[in-house]
Amino acid sequence: ARDAELAADTAAGATADGHAVALLANIGTAEDAERVAGPGVEGVGLFRTEVLFLEATTAPTQADQAAAYTRVLRALPEQKVVVRTLDAGADKPLAFATQPDEENPALGVRGYRLVRTNPELLDTQLAALAQAQAEAGATPWVMAPMIATPAEAREFATRARAAGVATVGVMVEVPAAALRARDILAEVDFVSLGTNDLAQYAMATDRLRGELADLLDVWQPAVLDLVAATARAGQDVGKPVGVCGESASDPLMALVLVGLGITSLSMSAGALAAVRFAVRHHTLEQCREIAAAALGASSAPDARAAVLALTAPEV
Ligand code: PEP
Ligand code: MG
Repeated sequence: ARDAELAADTAAGATADGHAVALLANIGTAEDAERVAGPGVEGVGLFRTEVLFLEATTAPTQADQAAAYTRVLRALPEQKVVVRTLDAGADKPLAFATQPDEENPALGVRGYRLVRTNPELLDTQLAALAQAQAEAGATPWVMAPMIATPAEAREFATRARAAGVATVGVMVEVPAAALRARDILAEVDFVSLGTNDLAQYAMATDRLRGELADLLDVWQPAVLDLVAATARAGQDVGKPVGVCGESASDPLMALVLVGLGITSLSMSAGALAAVRFAVRHHTLEQCREIAAAALGASSAPDARAAVLALTAPEV
């Protein structure tokens, strides 16, 4: 019965009592966009644009980028599409953008910080996005990765708006940004939590080291505290706070996130049905109780167990 319900249900994400939670897909290419578009996908919450350029040895031209972005926007007409500007460096090296001699690339010139060394990359990308927006007749949202301070958020927003992209946000994936989410939100229209990097930086644990997976865990209470602080800041100022890290694809974690006040969940498309099902089988009040139980635990396994004990049995 559960599998039949999962397959048949393509309704918009909502709790049992009708509180909407947008269910979005993470993509990396125009082909991904064309593959995920359809019933049950309310848009794209994370378009990892660096994936388009992993093989490139020189910076992509504005025309090449505009063509790719236009294709993505046309694949999802009328839907929300959040385009992330290039997140090069550390686990995502790009030949034309990565600093060759960093001892600690995860702490180095990566993500938005590339604007310090290669500002033309960001300006070209924003111009390409504005061009795609005009060609597709769409209104994409844009966000920058690896923002650490409100000043960076302001600088990015100024550049993006000057290029002609109206809805501007930043990722919260550095603990400093989560702790100062209110100040960051004063500069932008929305934020999106990147829980992969947020866990990496909060727990000082390389996200590529599999043997440290117990530390690199969004269920760690310290990571949940950062997520909760960011969600609270968003609720206080009435701006959207999404999650686009892998944690959103865990149905139990999705309930926690909804209970914390997260407004959209973006994940690999294959996870959407199970998350939709879990959210649909709990009220917002139940999600809040689930979130409180997770925050009240003192270890990741305890947090998960506490949530499991409060979850509807069919989930
Ligand atoms: C994240 O860090 O959670 C995220 C969504 O970005 P990426 O995995 O591309 O670094
Ligand atoms: Mg990240």
